[in-house]
Amino acid sequence: MIDPFGRTISYLRVSVTDRCDFRCVYCMAEDMTFLPKSEVLTLEELDRLCTAFIELGVRKLRLTGGEPLVRKNIMGLIENLGAHVKSGALEELTLTTNGSQLSRFAEQLVACGVRRINVSLDTLDSDKFAEITRWGRLQQVKDGLAAAKDAGLAVKINAVALKGVNEDEFDDLIAWCGDEGFGLTLIETMPLGDITGDRTDQYLPLSLVRKRLRKRWTLTDIDYTTGGPARYVRIEETGQKLGFITPMTHNFCESCNRVRLTCTGTLYMCLGQEDAADLRTPLRQSESNEPLIQAIHEAIGRKPKGHDFIIDRRHNRPAVSRHMSLTGG
Ligand code: SAM
Ligand code: SF4
Repeated sequence: MIDPFGRTISYLRVSVTDRCDFRCVYCMAEDMTFLPKSEVLTLEELDRLCTAFIELGVRKLRLTGGEPLVRKNIMGLIENLGAHVKSGALEELTLTTNGSQLSRFAEQLVACGVRRINVSLDTLDSDKFAEITRWGRLQQVKDGLAAAKDAGLAVKINAVALKGVNEDEFDDLIAWCGDEGFGLTLIETMPLGDITGDRTDQYLPLSLVRKRLRKRWTLTDIDYTTGGPARYVRIEETGQKLGFITPMTHNFCESCNRVRLTCTGTLYMCLGQEDAADLRTPLRQSESNEPLIQAIHEAIGRKPKGHDFIIDRRHNRPAVSRHMSLTGG
């Protein structure tokens, strides 16, 4: 799959559910309305779709959500997709999770062929954690992380940088990740979906954070890339990688290798654009994959060059109306 700008599409992110056991303030409104079950693809359909993408050249697959590990019987899908890792068709199967279910699933994930996971954690302070996630408990996530470590999973922590909330904690997070052997990536808030509250209050430019971190840490730029929005440095004092995802201050589209599939079978060619392709209809239309494959090729043929996020006082509405929990970040 090669798009009109010559970029090879080898990375698929799949949001397996829009539901979640947390209600993070930057991600969801407290009283979210979720999709009716009838609109959501079955696990069998998700498996068939992912397998078609793998046959078309996807080498890396990330499950996300909502919270992927709260979807019923999700381990069945992960096991089936893991078979593609074992056969060598897929280089990597991974997931982004809030960590709440890891105590239960870490060992099974490893058995299915998952080697690395991203866990979202914005603070090490229990009260702040409860404030940010509304429904989450820090200890549950910490237990999950311990289980992941014991099972041998490599962990990268994702933390959203929130002005006036966790901006005083990044030194502690870096030190803690260093001790635990976890990577860390800081993320700027993105204007996706209506939330309760004001986004301009939350937005903290990572250029500023980076400047502050340099006072305490030695940050060395490194070439490492996943083809995505993160730019990485090595923290000399801990030896760990630190990533910065800066959609608002840095254009990362020229190397974009990914597309995103929602749990309804909608394919978004760009996180920051509304254009999407319906893959559920061709999927359900025929037992043969031909209509589906044609629809995928058509969609890749319309992948846009880039996105255009803006947060400022005049544009205090989401640039894109769907929530991150639908496309999965
Ligand atoms: N529930 C899982 C989790 O939290 O890791 C997976 C889905 S979540 C939508 C994926 C990532 O998106 C998380 O790291 C979360 O912090 C991030 N995220 C959610 N809303 C965001 C926003 N408006 N701006 C930036 N990142 C956001
Ligand atoms: Fe759930 Fe992840 Fe969104 Fe938080 S960021 S509400 S954990 S989907």
